[in-house]
This record gives sequence, structure tokens and C-alpha cells, in this order.
Amino acid sequence: MNDYVLVLNAGSSSLKFSVYMRPEGGDWRPQSRGQIEGIGTAPRFFAKDASSAVIAKENLGDAVCDAQSALESLADWLRDRYGGGRILGVGHRVVHGGAQFTAPTIVTPGVMARLRELIPLAPLHQPYNLAAIDAVAQRNPGVPQVACFDTSFHRGQPAVAELVPLPRDIRSKGVQRYGFHGLSYEYIASVMPEVAPDIASGRVIVAHLGSGASLCAMQGGKSEDSSFGFTALDGLCMGTRPGAIDPGVVLYLFQSLGLSAQAVEDMLYKKSGLLAISGVSNDMRDLLDSDEPNARLAVDFFVYRAAKEIGALAAALRGLDGLVFTAGIGENSAEVRRRICEASAWLGLELDAQANLGHGPRISSAGSRLSAWVIPTNEEMMIAQHTGRLLGLTGTRAR
Ligand code: ADP
Repeated sequence: MNDYVLVLNAGSSSLKFSVYMRPEGGDWRPQSRGQIEGIGTAPRFFAKDASSAVIAKENLGDAVCDAQSALESLADWLRDRYGGGRILGVGHRVVHGGAQFTAPTIVTPGVMARLRELIPLAPLHQPYNLAAIDAVAQRNPGVPQVACFDTSFHRGQPAVAELVPLPRDIRSKGVQRYGFHGLSYEYIASVMPEVAPDIASGRVIVAHLGSGASLCAMQGGKSEDSSFGFTALDGLCMGTRPGAIDPGVVLYLFQSLGLSAQAVEDMLYKKSGLLAISGVSNDMRDLLDSDEPNARLAVDFFVYRAAKEIGALAAALRGLDGLVFTAGIGENSAEVRRRICEASAWLGLELDAQANLGHGPRISSAGSRLSAWVIPTNEEMMIAQHTGRLLGLTGTRAR
């Protein structure tokens, strides 16, 4: 009988999944991945196999309107495709582990209670992550579940990097810099010794540039600082989030423009960043293809903020040995990488134009003092590995 581990990444309107299989006597390997998107509006199911061939694409009925019904729909598909196999565990991406969860953990009622307390710190993600755990527990009470946090990798940073300098009683309520995208950074740190051995033990900035975008400053594969702070609004300009802005702007929105908390939250998470600057799209591909001056300004600002923050984190690390690009924009856009690298030339970075067009892995010239790399991330693999390890399932290291 084949064994399976399921990885789930549940959002407000999507349920992403990956299936890892271990044939009898064999090693774990990726089997398929996909998502249900448009949950609650126009739900659609999409899946690819390990060679990226499309194996499912269909519209789902309106009944798929929440975590429970999305999970039912996924379970039906899994049964059809992998019927007869056993699911040995389910690993979840959970955005917030607060200060206490410094590593992935097996889910228990006590763990869930502590994770629910963190909902106010990540109201747009945490409830949906936890709803997926509840839905699995209700449907398959005997299957163990593991929660893997986007914050854990950053715990252990120096005290100055985690500090939000507000009064002590406010800080005691959990107001500190947490950092996110940790599963992506942990994956990159885990493969650096193999892919980029020259820099793995040195001072490295990893640029996770996707619809959400952040930087992580690492020393020897450990997080020293991140451009994300208390929430995933800080730092770089993103698809629909502004990145760091003067908090005085937020006061002005409340006090002078009279906006409600809901309107400000909507603006900061869904209506700002590249979308707001360009007025056209939050998708970097559209912006790069456009001749609109505001689309160009959006790309200019994205590059400007990234380069500026790279300088800040290089200072935090007291120098830099390597720069790694990852995620949708970082892995696929040679133009954005070229522009960020050119803006970082003062650090001793010299691009190899050809290698950059070929997407690396090494994209800096042989003579460059600082090396630059493209390394595809794989957060699901990281979750599968943690799940396998915590549940005592051997062999989940397969890539
Ligand atoms: P997330 O997982 O946060 O939704 P991704 O890591 O998938 O995001 O990245 C999505 C972003 O990557 C989008 O802005 C998209 O435009 C961008 N992207 C994907 N492919 C390319 C490409 N070839 N050139 C430029 N940007 C790209």
C-alpha cells in the first residue's frame, strides 16, 4: 500500500495542496500539487503532476464555499486518484507562531488554543490556516497534523532586530518584529550548501520576491533580520501592499480623512503597492509589458525599495557575501534581477548578463566580489520534511 503526506496552505479564498507519496519500501517523492481557488465566489480546481503536466482542471459548484467544503472536494479528488493509499499525516502552513512557536509542532487542542490567540496578529491569514486544521480534524480525526510557521525561522534574531520601540506594556501584548516567509527562507538555507556552497556559511541576503515580497538577512543560514516586521505589511513594496510607510500616514487616514479601521486595513492589504502606483495591475508581468508611465514608475519603485533595503540589511550584517533571488518575480524576471543587481553594484556586485538571462543558478560574474544566485523556493517541501520528521516518517528529504 502506498503512503501519502498531504501539505495544505489555506488562504481566505484558496486551498493550495501538495501530495507526497512513499511507495512500499521506497522514499518520499512529490506526486502532485494544485489548488482550489475562488472559494466562496467561483471555485475552480487545478492540479499538476510532478512533471508539471496538468492532471485536473475543472469548475466546482457553489457548494464549495469554506474550508470544510473545499477539503471535501479535495478529498474526493484524492480518493479518485490515490484510492487505496493511506494519508499518514497532514502538514499545514500557518502564518503566525508568535514568539513561542520557534519550530513546527504537532497539532493538539492546546496548540490550537494558543494559535487562536494569535489571530489578531494575522487576521487575514491565521483564521483560514486554522480552519483547514479544524476541517481535517473533523473529517479525519485519526490523522496527525503538523503546523509549520512562517515566523519560526526568524526566532533567535538579535534583540535589536526584533524590537518595536513602543512602551513596555504595548510590547508585552506581543508587539515585536516577527518576520514572515520563514518556510521559504528555511528551504533556501537548507539547499544553499549544495547549490551555492561558497556563500552558505557567510553573510547572505535572500530576496523572496513574489506577490508578497521580503528580504531576509542570514549569517551561516540563520536569520539575523528581515524586512517584514510585526505584520507582513512592512518592508518592500508588494503587489497590493505598500511596504514600509510612515505610521503618521495611517494616523492621517484615521484622524483627518475619517477612514474606518476596515477601510484602512483593506487599503493597506489589498489596494496599495504596485497596484496603487500603476493603476493597472498588481502583476509584475503586466507592469513589465506595459508602456504606461505609471506602470514603469511602479517597477522603478519596486526596484528602488528592494535596493535600498538590501543596503540596510547589508549594514545589519556588517557586509555581504551573497544575494539570492527566489519566488515568482525573483525566479522568473531577469529584468527585475538585473535592475536590483545594478542598483547594488556599490556593494561589489557585478552581474553576468548571460547567466542572468538563463536564470542562473549563479548570475554574478566570475570577478564579482559578492556572488548572486537564483534558487527556486519550495515551501511545501519544507512543510513535508517537517511533517515527516515530527511524525517519525523516514525519508521525507526527497526533493
Ligand atoms: P505568491 O506565492 O506570493 O502568490 P509568487 O511567488 O507566485 O507569489 O509570485 C507572483 C508574482 O510573480 C507575480 O507578481 C507575477 O507577476 C510574478 N511573476 C511570475 N512570473 C514572472 C515573470 N516571468 N516575470 C515577471 N514576474 C513574474
